[in-house]
Amino acid sequence: MEKENSRRDFLIKSAALVIGSITASSILNKAFASGNFAETIFIEPDGGKFTLPALPYGYDALEPHIDKMTMEIHHDKHHQAYVTNLNKALETFDVSTIGGSPTFENMFNNAGKLPPALRNNGGGHYNHSLFWTLMTPPKAGAAAPSGKLTDAITKTFGSMDEFKKQFGDAATKRFGSGWAWLVKTSDGKLVIGSTANQDNPLMNLDSVEVKGTPVLALDVWEHAYYLKNQNRRADYIASFWNVVNWETAESLYAATK
Ligand code: MN
Repeated sequence: MEKENSRRDFLIKSAALVIGSITASSILNKAFASGNFAETIFIEPDGGKFTLPALPYGYDALEPHIDKMTMEIHHDKHHQAYVTNLNKALETFDVSTIGGSPTFENMFNNAGKLPPALRNNGGGHYNHSLFWTLMTPPKAGAAAPSGKLTDAITKTFGSMDEFKKQFGDAATKRFGSGWAWLVKTSDGKLVIGSTANQDNPLMNLDSVEVKGTPVLALDVWEHAYYLKNQNRRADYIASFWNVVNWETAESLYAATK
């Protein structure tokens, strides 16, 4: 525990150097847009209010793999609703019970103390903000990672194909709504898991079986694929591999010790 605390102190100090004492939603949104997620969990939203970050590409940019209408509704309606309802839930929540400010770090570390509206919408806002940056318009050479993440995936799972199979299995087998994750644990290991609803691997909950820093995330709620794929979640998972932003995944993997 002491080691964990000192690591956290180090991360907080590192983040403070990067962001200074400025607390602005614009910085949070810029960090989301750039995929600079190692810092986003520490930043306080302006006056406790979160805002919807813009998509880092056009609504039709992931065609033909993820369709324009799905992206419009998913970002403008679903994600916006998580932001709106998160802000609403914070109006009546005593943030002193989670460390004094509604940063994602404070919310997720104290996830067991959060009322359902905060847990669900806080998770929903963070997870979707992360998810957008983990996709990118399909282009030659984008279908596979390179560098240290590739090495770690190959070493852990045997091959990239085997990793995709296991990640796809986690996404397929998540019953109902939830997310599939590739996570870097506090001892530096890569593990695959899934969470229900809008829970995520940063949440300090017994029901979250795979804890650590998200490296890759896939939304498997039906709203993420039903318009194009109807009930065929497997088709949607296959499409996802064409638009993965491996550069963001690599930066997330590299950002944590
Ligand atoms: Mn979603």
